[in-house]
This record gives sequence, C-alpha cells and structure tokens, in this order.
Amino acid sequence: MPELVELRCPSNLRHLFMKMTVTGERPKYTEENWIEVACGDCKSEQRKLEMRNLGSTSIIRVLHYFSFMGELMKTEIVRLGGDYIQGS
Ligand SMILES: [Zn+2]
Repeated sequence: MPELVELRCPSNLRHLFMKMTVTGERPKYTEENWIEVACGDCKSEQRKLEMRNLGSTSIIRVLHYFSFMGELMKTEIVRLGGDYIQGS
C-alpha cells in the first residue's frame, strides 16, 4: 500500500523538504538507502553559533539523512577542507 512520507528539518519542523510516496520499493540515494538533504536553516544556525563562539566559521553545509521511511538517521556538518562532523 502506498504511504506518504514527509521529510522535515529536525530543528525546524515547519521546514518541509519533500513529500515522498513509498510503494514498497526503496529509493537508493546513499549506500545505506538514506536520502541526503542539505539544510539551509541549520547551516545558518550553526554558522551563527560558531561565529558567536569562535569568531569564525568553516561550515559550508549541514546535511540531514533520512531513512526511506522518512525517519531522521543522522545530521552531518560539512566544513571547508572536507571534515565531516556528526551532530545529533
Ligand atoms: Zn535542518
């Protein structure tokens, strides 16, 4: 049975990334079958936080990963230089 899944930013639930219809086939976006979404809201939040605490920031992207069921699996902060730091 097809099921509608909504992907939302974990820190701003009003921010809806996409609605997805799941019909039993798993979309393959990462090796773990997760969907990667770059979040502008979290990027500016994290950058603001770092600017305030450190005076500079190297954050270039914040990525949310969702399972094919629309469940948030992890959030990653991408920095200049390619370091990946896993957030909550
Ligand atoms: Zn976000």
